[in-house]
Amino acid sequence: MSEFDVIIVGGGHAGCEAACASARLGARTVLVTYRADKIGEMSCNPAIGGLGKGHLVREIDALDGVMARVADQAGIQYRLLNRSKGPAVQGPRSQADRKLYREAMQKEISETENLTVIEDGVDDLIVEAGCVAGVVCQSGQRIQAGAVVLTTGTFLRGLIHRGEERIPAGRVGEEPSNELSKRLDALELPLGRLKTGTPARLDGRTIEWDRLELQPADDEPVPFSFLTSEITVPQISCGITWTNAKTHEVIARNLTRSAVYSGAIEGTGPRYCPSIEDKVHKFADRERHQVFLEPEGLDDHTVYPNGISSSLPAEVQDEFIRTIPGLENVTIIQPGYAIEYDYVDPRSLTRTLEVKKLPGLYLAGQINGTTGYEEAAAQGLIAGLNAANRVCRSEHDDLIFDRAEAYIGVMIDDLITRGVTEPYRMFTSRAEYRLHLRADNADQRLTTRGREFGCVKDKRWAAFGEKTENLHSAKTLLQSLTFTPNEARDLGIEVKLDGRRRSAYEFLTYSGVDVDQLKKHWPEIAELEPAILNQASIEARYANYLDRQSSDIASLRRDEKRRIPDDLDYADVGSLSNETRDKLNRIRPETIAQAQRIEGMTPSAILAVISHLNKRDKMAKGQEQAQGA
Ligand code: FAD
Repeated sequence: MSEFDVIIVGGGHAGCEAACASARLGARTVLVTYRADKIGEMSCNPAIGGLGKGHLVREIDALDGVMARVADQAGIQYRLLNRSKGPAVQGPRSQADRKLYREAMQKEISETENLTVIEDGVDDLIVEAGCVAGVVCQSGQRIQAGAVVLTTGTFLRGLIHRGEERIPAGRVGEEPSNELSKRLDALELPLGRLKTGTPARLDGRTIEWDRLELQPADDEPVPFSFLTSEITVPQISCGITWTNAKTHEVIARNLTRSAVYSGAIEGTGPRYCPSIEDKVHKFADRERHQVFLEPEGLDDHTVYPNGISSSLPAEVQDEFIRTIPGLENVTIIQPGYAIEYDYVDPRSLTRTLEVKKLPGLYLAGQINGTTGYEEAAAQGLIAGLNAANRVCRSEHDDLIFDRAEAYIGVMIDDLITRGVTEPYRMFTSRAEYRLHLRADNADQRLTTRGREFGCVKDKRWAAFGEKTENLHSAKTLLQSLTFTPNEARDLGIEVKLDGRRRSAYEFLTYSGVDVDQLKKHWPEIAELEPAILNQASIEARYANYLDRQSSDIASLRRDEKRRIPDDLDYADVGSLSNETRDKLNRIRPETIAQAQRIEGMTPSAILAVISHLNKRDKMAKGQEQAQGA
């Protein structure tokens, strides 16, 4: 039997991040996955980032994770989404060359110290004295470890649906993981079914590109990683086309043959990312739906038609796709499909993503009911770090983020508090403190925490120190440059003629004033590094709102700090309805703030819990005093 500190099961996006994180903390880590050549595979859309998701990628990077650096080696069409909107909701996104991404991730894994890869499937968990102590592989190999992180994606009892076809698979061409799923069931983990889908893949050489509108990459790509100074991968355009009445007619005529509409699928799919069948059926008044034609790589002819995922039979997909302008003569390389799989109700997890009733077992990624590479990677990071911490460093606290610190904190809190009813994906709207949780300041929010925890290496720490100093200097400069109201008016800035000198920093809070105007007056502003100036000016512009948010955050922190003991019996708490008592018993929130976020929780129920805790504390104090007397 071989022995490690931490075992990671699955080499997808959660698994890669978990494995690197655990190894980075010094734990002897093994990544067990079906196929080493599929490590870092993008199962569906070849893109990283986007709204909310881009924030997660930056946060992973701020904690020295791998996803952002890998994505920067594979990005072929960078676009900063919502560029015209406020900085809080701008999201970095890039289409990725699928092969470059996989290769860069595999290189990262092979160069990570303390990390071994074993190509095998995991069928069983070794449980000793109520704790997980290792895994049993398909080959019969037994591996022992202090913690196991499962990141099995869509593989648990995965079942592909395409028209009338049913193919057991984890994703197309790969076996599902059925034995492990049975084992989780036997361990009484709460399992459910979800589904997701993917569109057909097209041969780009058969698309009539010259008839399509093209969407170019940004002129100046904004990298994902705080450590990337320049994007050197060539940038490409993608095509835009639209479905039409004929497309919708073909789909509507065959609707009952879609696996989703024939009743064959029991799992719920993502509402925000519907199949084309769903779009045609549910939004029947829409005359057309947009389709982005995204090349999958620089030297790959495969094109991903974003927006037409489908589980219709292959011949129907062929028929409707050929009704779309530019695609009349297209060759389909692989038809789309829907996949249904088991997930574990994430309400059974703690904030470190450890299974409450099975210490030593951590779950991360799609297995927790999420969808998306970024959501998976962010969970992998947290599970991997905490698993390694549990095994190797008993003196260190867990690494946990709250809703005011990071989108990672928002996601984990949502998952463990509310559970999921459909595949969970990140949106900026899920965060309460959006102005504070921006993509541009992820390092300022998290890198110091990561360094203290031990997961941020020297190279990043040095770069972070330099950036922090530059940012400080930039703000000081903006605060020191002042001008009179008359000088401001000369620059076209409307200001009260009260004789008061105002700083450039203050002027940035005025609507309509931007740094370009100020640069005209003070050339030293133009000399600042653009990224630094951008961040300093965002902070100047929103200083008042940020201050207000800081006071909201302070109040959240007070509630977060008020912990609810694990052994609290809610039967002893008076004035709770049966429904709220049931919910509290089931979810067992760790803090008052978490209890507040449980769906349907009323202020009076929260007051009842607080007053019960106060009584408990008072009694405990009384007992201590009596014993001391
Ligand atoms: P995965 O990336 O799936 O990785 C799982 C890994 O675990 C694989 O390497 C697998 O080989 C390994 N594994 C599984 N079981 C075992 C075992 N027992 N032993 C050893 N190794 C094992 N996301 C979106 O954001 N939007 C979409 O539209 C979308 N559509 C999708 C459509 C399809 C058909 C699929 C399959 C996925 C789709 N996704 C989509 C989801 C996206 O691919 C996942 O969210 C993401 O890959 C999840 O990462 P993960 O690490 O949890 O799992």
